[in-house]
Amino acid sequence: MATNLSLQQRKQAVFANGQGNLYPVYVSHAKNAEVWDVEGNRYLDFGTGIAVCNTGHAHPALVAAVNDQMEKFSHSCVMINPYESAVSLAEKLTALAPGNSAKKAMFVTTGAEAVENAVKIARAHTGRRGVIAFNGGFHGRTNLTMGLTGKVTPYKDHFGPFAGEIYHAPYPNALHGISEEQSLAALNTLMKVAIAPRDVAAIIIEPIQGEGGFYVASPEFLKALRALCDEHGIVLICDEIQSGFARTGHMFYTEAAGIEPDLMTMAKGIAGGIPISAVVGKAGIMDSSPPGGLGGTYGGSPLGCAAGLAVLKVIEDEQLLTRAGMIERRFKEALGALQTQFPEVIADVRGHGAMIALELMCDGDPARPNPALTKAVIAKAMEYGLILLACGFHGNVIRFLPPLTIPEAHLREGLEAFTELFQEV
Ligand code: PLP
Repeated sequence: MATNLSLQQRKQAVFANGQGNLYPVYVSHAKNAEVWDVEGNRYLDFGTGIAVCNTGHAHPALVAAVNDQMEKFSHSCVMINPYESAVSLAEKLTALAPGNSAKKAMFVTTGAEAVENAVKIARAHTGRRGVIAFNGGFHGRTNLTMGLTGKVTPYKDHFGPFAGEIYHAPYPNALHGISEEQSLAALNTLMKVAIAPRDVAAIIIEPIQGEGGFYVASPEFLKALRALCDEHGIVLICDEIQSGFARTGHMFYTEAAGIEPDLMTMAKGIAGGIPISAVVGKAGIMDSSPPGGLGGTYGGSPLGCAAGLAVLKVIEDEQLLTRAGMIERRFKEALGALQTQFPEVIADVRGHGAMIALELMCDGDPARPNPALTKAVIAKAMEYGLILLACGFHGNVIRFLPPLTIPEAHLREGLEAFTELFQEV
């Protein structure tokens, strides 16, 4: 029988280093919030494959939708002979995207591809080349999206040169002394000294930074960004690849902030693990590219569309927006109590819905990140059967991304385990 160790040895012999894994634990099967490895060990999944399984593992509605589609046809290519599920998913996503403008959608396969295509659309629409992104942001691992990504290690080291005409501004971060006013002032300075506003095609922002550490942009900041883009005819792209699909207690966090982005990128939670991603935005902007200029062989695959429609139905049927709000309260209560107990190491508890972060520091000083403790807590959690992920510029933030369908008993079990193991590290 294959063991975790034997599989890890086989993997190391044939997998490139760059696609390394966090845990030498090989999944055998999973159901909702529970995962079993090949040795029969059971885990609670508080990471959901990086915010992908919002509706839990192997949700019966998704299984049925994908099986049914597979039996009918597995591929056709939406650019050759399209199919109804792609049209239906586009109709639903355009209706769900924030704001009242008429919208259109396009499908690709991964998050990075969605970002690439959003930038292509913004450039085609404006005839400009520049793109401004934010420090600490993460947008993917393709050449253009590496360039947009703010974090150098491990995403950019050794991989340049990157695409040109990309600029970075500071993301507001009160905990680390960057006020929203400073961030906006830096953006304005950038557009005076580095690139003129008339040359900027797009500003891209994660309303809640994912890999960057779950820092949240306030509604006021996003509104100021919206006004700046309006003033200069710049396309505002909101990257909700990690924060979308009910994760934050809103279908998209941008909607809670009360702004309408020009374009929005969606992936991860869109289809519970079947690879599909989308750009959704204002029709007049989305239509800027000629037929054939966007998409790809697998973009908007029949399996992805079937799964996407099933996910949207589960979000509605099981009231996952409300559940995310309940999960937020439970996490903030448990983690807040830990912060009171350990004020010297817990710098912050933040986030929305089921996208919650715990930031760890040394000696009560948020300016001194504590990645070593973060690593130790996450390793201990694995011993306790709890899958957790780190994030943040310094790797000192623990992120909690449980399925929104997690049963109450498993939520309690996971939070109790975390409280206990945190005292032990
Ligand atoms: N944008 C954001 C906000 C992300 O969190 C990610 C992935 O973590 C991406 C883009 C890239 O998505 P993918 O890994 O599917 O290319």
